[in-house]
Amino acid sequence: MVQRGAWWGRLLAIFAVALLMGGFILSGRAGGQATKPQGQGLPPMVGDLLRGRTVIIDPGHGGYDPGARGRQVTEAELNLAIALKLRKWFQLAGAHVLMTWSKPSQIASNRKYRVQQRLTWINQHKADILIDIHCNSGASSYHGPQTFYWEGAASYHLASDVQQELQYFTGTSRGVKRINQYVLRYAKMPAINVEVGFITNGREEQKLLNPTYEEDLTWYIFIGTERWLVKGRWPAELLEAPPPTDLLVRD
Ligand SMILES: [Zn+2]
Repeated sequence: MVQRGAWWGRLLAIFAVALLMGGFILSGRAGGQATKPQGQGLPPMVGDLLRGRTVIIDPGHGGYDPGARGRQVTEAELNLAIALKLRKWFQLAGAHVLMTWSKPSQIASNRKYRVQQRLTWINQHKADILIDIHCNSGASSYHGPQTFYWEGAASYHLASDVQQELQYFTGTSRGVKRINQYVLRYAKMPAINVEVGFITNGREEQKLLNPTYEEDLTWYIFIGTERWLVKGRWPAELLEAPPPTDLLVRD
């Protein structure tokens, strides 16, 4: 027996969340609900979820560490190009964005790279979110982005929402996985590593070098982060309770 008051409260809460999420919920699709804007602005549904929040974007490697190598570029070069595109979306949404490094000149054989120092710097800045950008490497047929986390519900859900959007965008099916990676493990904030694709796959490397593809790919990383932030505003009872059967829509 469901109490009338509780039923109405739940209905109102769901209505509020549906309004807040706009296209996220109403379109009913698994990912890619938000259309990338053609101009410079963001669609109104994005709202103010990121305003006043601090996001750290960490392009993997750098200094004398090029990371994995493709046929045309190193991983550090691609990581930086993609991280800069991602920064733009977060800035448009009003976030305060910090980058661990942001200039191609910081990739140089005589420049030091110490992952411990990078982590210390990241933790000093007490950001709301850390997004590491890397390229994957493996057999030449391997392809598709994949998002990793180390532990904790916040990092897991952030990784899941981002990966769901990336699956939608690329039509690939790699799932979220845990990874024991130094920066993710010791970061004192929700932290994910987005491996944007396989640099060791010639076709994927070519795609990752295309600025339009980079714009689109980073848009979906951004929208996945927005989805996760929206969940942070859900009433706890909605997140924990099973779906209410009295509100099932049948067609
Ligand atoms: Zn890497």
